[in-house]
Amino acid sequence: MARPAPRTMTVLSRKEVSPSMIRVTLGGEGLAGYPEEQQGGYVKLMFPPRPGTAKPTLRTYTIRAQREGEIDVDFALHGVDNGVSGPATNWAVTANPGDTIEVGGPGQAKPLPEGFDFYLVAGDMTAIPAISVNLEALDRTAQGLVVLEIQREEDRIAIDAPEGVAIQWVVNPEPGAKPELLVEALRAAGWPEGRIYAWAASEFSAMRLMRGYLREERGLSPSELYISSYWKQGLDEESHKLVKREDLEAATPEV
Ligand SMILES: Cc1cc2nc3c(=O)[nH]c(=O)nc-3n(C[C@H](O)[C@H](O)[C@H](O)COP(=O)(O)OP(=O)(O)OC[C@H]3O[C@@H](n4cnc5c(N)ncnc54)[C@H](O)[C@@H]3O)c2cc1C
Repeated sequence: MARPAPRTMTVLSRKEVSPSMIRVTLGGEGLAGYPEEQQGGYVKLMFPPRPGTAKPTLRTYTIRAQREGEIDVDFALHGVDNGVSGPATNWAVTANPGDTIEVGGPGQAKPLPEGFDFYLVAGDMTAIPAISVNLEALDRTAQGLVVLEIQREEDRIAIDAPEGVAIQWVVNPEPGAKPELLVEALRAAGWPEGRIYAWAASEFSAMRLMRGYLREERGLSPSELYISSYWKQGLDEESHKLVKREDLEAATPEV
């Protein structure tokens, strides 16, 4: 299928979701005719090309919510204080109503499939938007555990999860510095009974540790596991994409 043409969207508002998360609401004429029910899907935000290159600089973000003529995008902040943040973060912290941005996509959401006895979910702040969407859509009788890595206590936000789904917060002031945190929390929780579905997205090294646990040690099959690297410590999105591709090629089980 042909890729949808990028749209020029207008910043409607910017607000703080938590100290380390900013929400930018996009809308305007460019959103006219946007496909419905895209929450949880992703967009490619387009920034000016780097010097010496012609293509725009792309950054991938989740559609946290969609309303008539509006989408919300939540940005986990990083590197703002010490000047090592990237173009997306720099843009988000200074975005003002009326600013415009080219937006590619939408790309497909990765929801939690119905019918499992227990949902094991884990992610860092970059995955909180997708995880929030998935938990909102989950059957209200579902059981599960969600482990979320945040930068500080105050980054705990309200998430509309079914009553039987517990949320555990793990604080790490330096994202990417302790890749073992999420997998350790999953291990400490023990292995639940019944048919399990696991969903995890995080920094690359943290993802690899979780993949080792969930796929290799616990034997979850592709139909029982979604796992993705959303970024890599020390690499920008372009370089991360290359590493991610190599890793996927090396890690895909033989069929
Ligand atoms: C499918 C998908 C959905 C995503 N959805 C979201 C989302 O909804 N919200 C969100 O915040 N992110 C999301 N991400 C992650 C986001 O695309 C990356 O964090 C991206 O690299 C940020 O771009 P940047 O321009 O700020 O930094 P870049 O220019 O890519 O990187 C600059 C530096 O910042 C570091 N860095 C990048 N991201 C982080 C981080 N989160 N924490 C600490 N250091 C970092 C890099 O390692 C690099 O050293 C998603 C990624 C994918 C693949």
